[in-house]
Amino acid sequence: MNMPNINDARKRTNNIIPIKRDDFIIPEEVKNIGKNKNYCILTYGCQMNVHDSENISAIIEEMGYNKIDNMDNANVIILNTCAIRENAHNKVMGMLGRIKHLKEKNPDIITAFCGCMAQEVGIANKLKDKYPWVDIVMGTHNFHKLPIYLKNTISTNKQQLEVYSKEGDVIECLPVKRDSKYKAWVNIMYGCDKFCTYCIVPYTRGKQRSRLPDDIINEVKELVKNNYKEVTLLGQNVNAYGKDLNINYNMANLLEDVALTNIPRIRFVTSHPWDFTSDMIDIIAKYDNIMPYIHLPLQSGSTKILNKMGRRYTKEEYIKLFKEIKNKIPNCSITTDIIVGFPGETKKDFKDTIDIVNELKFDLAYTFIYSPREGTPASIMKDNVSVEEKKERLATLNELINKYANLNNQKYKDKIVQVLIEGQSEKGNMLMGYTDTMKLVNIKAPEKYIGKIVNVKITDIKTWSMDGVIIDD
Ligand code: SAM
Ligand code: SF4
Repeated sequence: MNMPNINDARKRTNNIIPIKRDDFIIPEEVKNIGKNKNYCILTYGCQMNVHDSENISAIIEEMGYNKIDNMDNANVIILNTCAIRENAHNKVMGMLGRIKHLKEKNPDIITAFCGCMAQEVGIANKLKDKYPWVDIVMGTHNFHKLPIYLKNTISTNKQQLEVYSKEGDVIECLPVKRDSKYKAWVNIMYGCDKFCTYCIVPYTRGKQRSRLPDDIINEVKELVKNNYKEVTLLGQNVNAYGKDLNINYNMANLLEDVALTNIPRIRFVTSHPWDFTSDMIDIIAKYDNIMPYIHLPLQSGSTKILNKMGRRYTKEEYIKLFKEIKNKIPNCSITTDIIVGFPGETKKDFKDTIDIVNELKFDLAYTFIYSPREGTPASIMKDNVSVEEKKERLATLNELINKYANLNNQKYKDKIVQVLIEGQSEKGNMLMGYTDTMKLVNIKAPEKYIGKIVNVKITDIKTWSMDGVIIDD
């Protein structure tokens, strides 16, 4: 048993990060234990978790397990959790209740709990003391040891709880089973060193560790060979890529080298405004295969609140960066994240947020009510804004965000755009895909177009999507 520790989680040293190329093993005796058995994986949270689940799926399938979507018939149920806000927590705890019910009927079901929630001291203690029937609890640094934990669970029938609070390493040998045949997530870095005062990520994911450029570029070249059309370069703060490598190679260099692989579409998330350089903007503008779409979290329009959040930029600096991007890449769509109700946010601070939204007119924004996370500096800041007031501010903000989302989409009416067709739309009888600017388009077209980038004429505009028709292949 190895419990997480918040003091170890926040430690940062100058130690060299080990790159492990042979750390993944499936013990001989469990290689086929999943034959004729099913697993189900439920993923919560960000793209990083989605991609981790692709690794976990590949690992468990190498043991013979078959993936199913319905947990009622699963022999192994894996919960890949998110700790970013309280409501993500609540969803997972609710799901544990449902799994307990299934396990009462079939005690052979194995439950594995992983992801950022497992890294939290309070949650790990709760799982140990109150949920002993959760068979495996593993953290973000060691999910690749799932085969060993499964083996131990089966042989001892005791809870396997192993969570490390450490800076972390880079593991290059993990298998991956990608959800899509056309779009791939590619990690370029792990962890985060920004320590925004509200955020749990630096504690759950460890220190910033960039992958070596060659490892990333070779992965993208392999995807090109396999006919992938799009990669999304993943990291909590991709603009800081390379800072920890000390090899004089940064995100602008990486974007250029990935562009030169000729993969048709390149995206990247998430960008921290602080590390966004003019060189990066120039490279995005230079290469047609780097998509004109940037997710640029603002968090607040008040410089006072940004300062309390530890974001290290002012409202004016954010506006300047936004305008530089729009000047150099005029068709670029820019989306953002905004938190309302941060401790000490006055009506005037909130008005600053409203003003900046009115000025910049984001294509879209993901908006959140501040949620205190145990162990973070903001969680002990004096918070005198009532819950009702926070909800009202969120509703006011959302109304404005929706208005600009719709107005930005209106510009596409009757225009011809390129769309990568990904698959069936949630709307019956339609296919769906995204424009280069990340606008969702639903199209009535035959399935033969799935996996292709096609020219589409936009015929109808909604707030969250558009409809279109294919005008050629
Ligand atoms: N690394 C990215 C960044 O710096 O923007 C994204 C991190 S997080 C997965 C995504 C978003 O969740 C953040 O941009 C922030 O708006 C929101 N978030 C993080 N911690 C939060 C908290 N304690 N309460 C409410 N929202 C939070
Ligand atoms: Fe969290 Fe800030 Fe790091 Fe983003 S940059 S993951 S918000 S600490």
